[in-house]
Amino acid sequence: MRVSYWCANGHETTPSFSANEDVEAPEFWDCPRCGFPAGLDAANPPEPVRNEPYKTHLAYVKERRSEEDGAALLEEALATLRARRTGLRQAS
Ligand SMILES: [Zn+2]
Repeated sequence: MRVSYWCANGHETTPSFSANEDVEAPEFWDCPRCGFPAGLDAANPPEPVRNEPYKTHLAYVKERRSEEDGAALLEEALATLRARRTGLRQAS
């Protein structure tokens, strides 16, 4: 038994399932071409929102990291400035 699924990008996937009555085709199927969820209704494919929280979390982590990098760079710049001042004081 073959079932057709369509994703939001219009890709058709036709995985085959056992014709056994105990086995029911799942409501959703991951599109092997783009990874979006695919549904049984070609005119109404499921919205690709399932990966959204993970992406948002990753973006949040990246944001935090760049903030920390910025603080580290500032600290380094200040240290260099202090060292230079100390050096000038010692020279005079
Ligand atoms: Zn697709």
